[in-house]
Amino acid sequence: MQPRQEDRQRQRSDDLYHTSRWTKLSAALRSRPDFACCAECARHGIVTPATVVDHIVPWPVCEDFFDTSNLQPLCDKCNHDKGQRDKQLIQRYKQTHQR
Ligand SMILES: [Zn+2]
Repeated sequence: MQPRQEDRQRQRSDDLYHTSRWTKLSAALRSRPDFACCAECARHGIVTPATVVDHIVPWPVCEDFFDTSNLQPLCDKCNHDKGQRDKQLIQRYKQTHQR
C-alpha cells in the first residue's frame, strides 16, 4: 500500500499539482465561462483561450494552495512569462523564510 499524497504532511508543489483534489478543482474551474479566456491577455484587450489554471500569488508564497480566489486562467505564453517572475518571488520568499 502506498501512502496517499494528500496525507503527507510536508508537500512540495509538484505533489500538490498531482493530487486528485487539484485535478478536480482545476477541471471544475476550467469548465466555468470566466475561466475560458486568459486573464493576462484580457488585461491587454486580447482574447486568448486559457490552457492552465494559475496561482495569482504563487505557491508556496500563497497560504492556501486550493484558494479559488487566488486562481486565474492563463494561456501557455502568459503562464510561461509569469512563471519566470514567480520564480524570483518564490526565491525571495524562501530566503526570507529560512530558519
Ligand atoms: Zn495570455
